[in-house]
Amino acid sequence: MRRFTHVDAATIDEATRHLAEGDTRAIAGGSNIVPLMKLGIAKPGRLVNIKTIPGMDGINFSEREGLRIGALATIDALANDKTVKERYPLLSEAASSIASPQIRNVATLGGNLTQEPRCWYYRGPQPCWLKGGRMCYAAAGENEHHAILGTGTCNSIQPSDSAPALIALGATAKVASASGERTIPVEELFQKPIEGARRLSALKPRELITSIAIPPPRVGGIGTYTKKMNRHVWTFASVSIAAQLTVNKGTVKDARLVVGGVSSIPWRLGQSETALEGQPLDERTIEKAAEASTQGSRPLKHNGYKVPLTRAVVTETLTTLRIRATHNPV
Ligand SMILES: Cc1cc2nc3c(=O)[nH]c(=O)nc-3n(C[C@H](O)[C@H](O)[C@H](O)COP(=O)(O)OP(=O)(O)OC[C@H]3O[C@@H](n4cnc5c(N)ncnc54)[C@H](O)[C@@H]3O)c2cc1C
Ligand code: SF4
Repeated sequence: MRRFTHVDAATIDEATRHLAEGDTRAIAGGSNIVPLMKLGIAKPGRLVNIKTIPGMDGINFSEREGLRIGALATIDALANDKTVKERYPLLSEAASSIASPQIRNVATLGGNLTQEPRCWYYRGPQPCWLKGGRMCYAAAGENEHHAILGTGTCNSIQPSDSAPALIALGATAKVASASGERTIPVEELFQKPIEGARRLSALKPRELITSIAIPPPRVGGIGTYTKKMNRHVWTFASVSIAAQLTVNKGTVKDARLVVGGVSSIPWRLGQSETALEGQPLDERTIEKAAEASTQGSRPLKHNGYKVPLTRAVVTETLTTLRIRATHNPV
């Protein structure tokens, strides 16, 4: 491991000033960056500890503004917050599905949204394309956990469970740097790695997420998170889906479906959303939405199972929401 120095930041300004000086990475819970430093993949000369910034871990709700979550809120706090459970069950379910209780206690929301890929070649000694090398070893190698949608130069999957949930809820992120603040949709925090920007995060290295905002719940809004894993608990999604619908008198007025585990970005199911909107939430509509969910997929040699799995997860999730809508009609 490269030798590094460590500094505690007392304010957001202080943290962004340190980041602007370069060769510096932020550390929050440390559950992602510390293992990467031990593996020699992240090699910062300095870590700036942002957990020492007071007031950046709050979870606050108002009927008018909706939910505001500080980037330092732990995944455990998010999973167990009473208001989040009642008003945004989709987010609470997604947070509860992350990792193990020990990790949820230290991991923060900001860190979850900016964590690096889990691809075993990325974490191994191979100089793969994402690490600056010439080829994607997963393309012709061990690719059972890799992408089926938007595949290309890098076939890793976006590992965050909070990201699909926040995108389905229409969340925005407040981002700070030494040159000021900006607010962007959470969807825009992610990018498909391309030449010139070999990263999954669209955040600039000197930027910090300071908070996340979610609009107030809509009348008739229902949402849920389904996650399928290769074992029962405490691992990353093989396929997951965050689904948020607005249903009025049995008809879908608005649909946001975001899939995890299938692409290097949280994958918005635009065609499935179109198949749902304006239609009765019945078996036939659900079937059409499920069918549309994998259009354009290009599985690799060992991950073809993700195509029927994605369709099955869409069907299961929309059926759950259909039952909920039937029991609580608006
Ligand atoms: C065994 C295991 C299982 C896991 N399972 C899951 C899972 O099922 N689902 C899932 O979603 N995740 C899973 N994770 C990942 C885990 O949730 C993340 O490691 C964690 O959320 C990262 O948060 P942190 O605060 O520890 O980040 P850190 O490790 O402190 O930081 C991670 C990265 O984010 C940057 N960063 C931190 N905070 C900010 C900020 N506010 N703004 C900008 N950049 C920031 C850091 O510089 C670093 O690059 C798992 C991890 C482990 C070890
Ligand atoms: S999928 Fe991405 S991270 Fe994995 S080997 Fe290929 S280029 Fe590297």
